[in-house]
Amino acid sequence: MIRIENVNKWYGQFQVLTGIDLQVRAGERIVICGPSGSGKSTLIRCINRLETVQQGRIVVDGIDLTANARNVDAVRREVGMVFQQFNLFPHLTVLQNCTLAPMSTRGVPQAQAEATAMKYLERVRIPEQAHKYPAQLSGGQQQRVAIARALCMTPKIMLFDEPTSALDPEMVKEVLDTMIGLAEDGMTMLCVTHEMGFARSVADRVIFMAEGRILEQAPPQQFFSAPQHAKTQAFLGQIL
Ligand code: ATP
Ligand code: MG
Repeated sequence: MIRIENVNKWYGQFQVLTGIDLQVRAGERIVICGPSGSGKSTLIRCINRLETVQQGRIVVDGIDLTANARNVDAVRREVGMVFQQFNLFPHLTVLQNCTLAPMSTRGVPQAQAEATAMKYLERVRIPEQAHKYPAQLSGGQQQRVAIARALCMTPKIMLFDEPTSALDPEMVKEVLDTMIGLAEDGMTMLCVTHEMGFARSVADRVIFMAEGRILEQAPPQQFFSAPQHAKTQAFLGQIL
């Protein structure tokens, strides 16, 4: 589903990604963790080309992102993304947030877009909030809207960049439960998160990044019980 081959990326003189190789199968759930500044956000942003790379290849569902700039739109149709800071449009209602992209980029008729949006708002368990504005919702509710909004584009892959780290602790669970539901439905997911309980219960594979490299990857049981690399051990020592 995703093939990343020997990717190198620089911001100016600074090499942010080094020799990244990563393959993700359809339906696989990947958790990416690692210290601040290790390149986790940069890596997943490359998968829907919010960032470009200078070297290497990224192929998403058979579409080569690095070959042809025109492939970007095709990939973005398949990849949904949820950010730490929700990124909802403040001047639009929850429902309008969810229908905007399907209507404007796909020409879905309004009634159909709204029916689809309500289906996903029910799935994230906030259909009653449909006519409110983002500022009227809790952080956890806003993040669930962001997830529903991404699902309205019927993506094949969902990318999450620390979706719970801006939330008050009591709201983390409702967002993680939503993500667990997606995983159970077979969604291909890449999640940057330090929620290690989520990683243990949902991930097929946990990837540890440091200084722009993938240092280690393993199924969660192995990753947590027998981390190989000293930097992984130090990292886990800090967060567990
Ligand atoms: P965090 O856990 O803090 O979110 P991260 O692992 O997601 O960190 P990135 O955001 O990918 O890290 O950033 C990796 C490195 O690249 C950092 O040193 C950061 O300062 C640098 N960086 C990120 N974005 C840019 C940019 N647009 N221009 C220049 N440097 C950048
Ligand atoms: Mg980040």
